[in-house]
Amino acid sequence: MSEENFSQFKFNSDLFDGLTAMGFSKPTPIQQQAIPVIQEGSDIIACAQTGTGKTAAFLLPIIDTIGKSNSGKHIDAIVIAPTRELALQIDQQVDALGYFTGISSLAIYGGTDGVEFVQQKKALTEGANIIIATPGKLLSHLRLGYVKSKQLQFLILDEADRMLDMGFHDDIMKIISFLPKDRQTLLFSATMPPKIRQLAKKILKPDPAEVNIAISKTADGVLQAAYYVMSNEKIKLIENMLDGKKSYKSILIFASTRSDVKSITRALNAKKFAVDQIQSDLEQSEREQVLRKFKNKTIQMLVATDIVSRGIDIDDISLIINYNVPGAEDYVHRVGRTARAENTGLAITLIDPEENYKFKKIEKLIQQEVPKMQLPKGFSKVDLTERNRGYSSSKSKKGYGGKKRFSGNKKNYKNRS
Ligand code: AMP
Repeated sequence: MSEENFSQFKFNSDLFDGLTAMGFSKPTPIQQQAIPVIQEGSDIIACAQTGTGKTAAFLLPIIDTIGKSNSGKHIDAIVIAPTRELALQIDQQVDALGYFTGISSLAIYGGTDGVEFVQQKKALTEGANIIIATPGKLLSHLRLGYVKSKQLQFLILDEADRMLDMGFHDDIMKIISFLPKDRQTLLFSATMPPKIRQLAKKILKPDPAEVNIAISKTADGVLQAAYYVMSNEKIKLIENMLDGKKSYKSILIFASTRSDVKSITRALNAKKFAVDQIQSDLEQSEREQVLRKFKNKTIQMLVATDIVSRGIDIDDISLIINYNVPGAEDYVHRVGRTARAENTGLAITLIDPEENYKFKKIEKLIQQEVPKMQLPKGFSKVDLTERNRGYSSSKSKKGYGGKKRFSGNKKNYKNRS
């Protein structure tokens, strides 16, 4: 069945076997659009959010091409990704899709110990077909001079907007200075702000092909809702929402700070929910362990900071709760955690009055108004009016809309490698 639908791409049969094993029966829209262009050898700038099948959109044609002339003696492709979690995720997809092809790959990210550094060095020296790396760590290896990248065919930047937001621009440019100019570059980004276009100008060949998959809309099938709630009552509201909701298979709660993640986890633990957390105070191995438990449904709920909001492939998330209102682009990504492929999900955002202006930005980006739900009994009434009037002390009817005070979305990413 797979062969029929993917057959237009004329992949090697080994790769078809991988597709069949993965259960992919037909290409997603991004795959449909991007794969032929990549096969033609064009550079590409692709705008697609997570959940659209974008990873396979670049992996399938590169695995196929590499498989046709695989010497195994040098590095054929480098994928740069913003976080370790995403790098590992991509590596796992290479393993799965390329299982029957004999392709080798390795994820390289920061925070690993000396033994792993030696292992990474070995792979980079001897050649592994596909290296998936976070920018900082890759750069430190490149600077040491042993990376076998002279015959590199493909450079892929995944979640390029995220990497720029995390301050990786200079690292990316330095990495590229080590790589051969004669290569095919694929730039994937969830959004296309001017800085991405500028980056594309610098690193892609002129007139790259463009592929665009409805970036400003959240994934189809996701129901969205929001509550206006005072910030000191948000945890209580979460407890209230989840009470008796054992039927939700997987629940992912995002908060913007480590301390909020800890408080929410503590509160839900106290209510005897099967909950765990991922935040940057945890060691990489602990984070991976928690993610595994969440993926295999040993724990029902995961409370996490932004680290896991993009790119991490967890299927069947039935409910996403945004404890804080995220930046508009992050919102689209987070909501993309549900309704992956063909599932459907629910995303609920808790908005305190201070965050109203930010939520308006989200609604503008997704071009729809998210329904606001009535608070249950026992919660304080939320009055948005003061904020609407620029923090004057007037008291009047409920309003909607806020003063623009957008302060950007810069965070201190402890996890950059
Ligand atoms: P991504 O956007 O790359 O994070 O992929 C989202 C999810 O879709 C992942 O779980 C993939 O395994 C899955 N996926 C990718 N391509 C296909 C396909 N052609 N058919 C079904 N599922 C797919």
